[in-house]
Amino acid sequence: MEKRYYQKDIETMPYEDIRKIQSEKLVKQVKHVYENVKYYRDLMDEKGVKPEDIKSIDDIHKLPFLSKADLREAYPYGLMGKPLNECVRIQSTSGTTGKRVVAFYTQNDIDIWEECCARAIVAAGGNEDDVCQVSYGYGLFTGGPGLNGGSHRVGCLTIPTSSGNTERQMQFIMDLNATILCCTPSYAAYIGESLAEKGYGPDDIPLKAGIFGAEPWTEEMRRSIENTLGIKAYDIYGLTEISGPGVSFECEEQSGMHINEDHFYAEIIDPETGEPLPEGEVGELVFTSLDKEAFPLLRYRTRDLCVLSRKPCSCGRTHVKMSKPIGRSDDMLIIKGVNVFPSQIETVLLNEGYSPNYQIIVDRVGTTDTFDINVEMSADQFSDTVKEISVKEKALVDAMKAMLGIVPKIHLLPPKSVVRSEGKAVRTIDKRKLHD
Ligand code: ADP
Ligand code: ZN
Repeated sequence: MEKRYYQKDIETMPYEDIRKIQSEKLVKQVKHVYENVKYYRDLMDEKGVKPEDIKSIDDIHKLPFLSKADLREAYPYGLMGKPLNECVRIQSTSGTTGKRVVAFYTQNDIDIWEECCARAIVAAGGNEDDVCQVSYGYGLFTGGPGLNGGSHRVGCLTIPTSSGNTERQMQFIMDLNATILCCTPSYAAYIGESLAEKGYGPDDIPLKAGIFGAEPWTEEMRRSIENTLGIKAYDIYGLTEISGPGVSFECEEQSGMHINEDHFYAEIIDPETGEPLPEGEVGELVFTSLDKEAFPLLRYRTRDLCVLSRKPCSCGRTHVKMSKPIGRSDDMLIIKGVNVFPSQIETVLLNEGYSPNYQIIVDRVGTTDTFDINVEMSADQFSDTVKEISVKEKALVDAMKAMLGIVPKIHLLPPKSVVRSEGKAVRTIDKRKLHD
């Protein structure tokens, strides 16, 4: 059965009406937080803001920010908005950035989160005829549980493989005719590569769509995955602090992710000054959960850098779109004083015909930064002569220099020498220990 939206009324609601809902929810939420979360009440008191000062969504900038440091300080119960006996679940971050976050959910919080994931699945063309294989990790990580819940709500036959055991992933896709695959883009690339090795081309693979997120990936990587698996690949974004995957998701236009702004209010700020930036400017994404009960974060600074757009979308959804995060302010490497994002390196590699299997290694010798990139060659790029390889390395160094403005040392490696990821890929090894 063809279905375009999971919750049509809300997903296509005129902007003014969404704003009304946001205002009503914010006023209520600020009261809830002020009364129940001492940590945030103290921050508001410090700033001299009272719940009465928040009359509509236009007043949101009066509220104090929350950051990862606050989450660490308030760990584990300091930001809870409900007593533990009203909570039914916790989830926790994988600690990519080394700081574990524990988030609490009431049943209502879970319902909203799963509905958001259901919206994403329907936007990717999913309905009750689909077989949806969820190959994100299950457990504390939000990826598996979130998409699993969304898939149930849509009525797909759900295959909860979790991540790992790639042989079994392939077997289920092929034997059970999976039509939708949900996992990290790096794992999708690996599954695609493994299917190709078994001789399955895009036309042999029953998948029609993929919902990939939880880590940055480029347009080039999207095209490569789409071609190998014979699917349309959709981006999905989220973070544990705000609920999990499904905070925003892509529609058929594949040009940015609609934020579920009836639940999550987004702002873009200047990461240096904290000032709100006008639409269309790149800055740090800040989220306010408008109706989360157990872990109701207001003005949470994500560290993700992106752009918001209210340009009308051909899918009919009216919710604001965010661009793919171009990086995370804490993912950005400063090498020899130059800002470098792993996504820029990935773009160059895929443009130059390499696979997305690479690793960036940064170190410091004395006071000078070193910058190395290990890049894997495919079987047909691989050659025995040192001369051929050094010509290829030189070409890649030039392309990197044009993109980044600085010169890395490139190491072309034989096929299969960069370790594959079944979850979030580790792209960068920074040995300089510049942070804690
Ligand atoms: P952690 O990575 O710290 O363990 P999470 O698992 O909650 O915490 O990950 C949230 C972060 O993952 C986001 O803030 C963002 O940086 C990244 N992320 C999630 N989805 C995407 C996506 N589609 N594209 C790029 N980055 C993403
Ligand atoms: Zn759209």
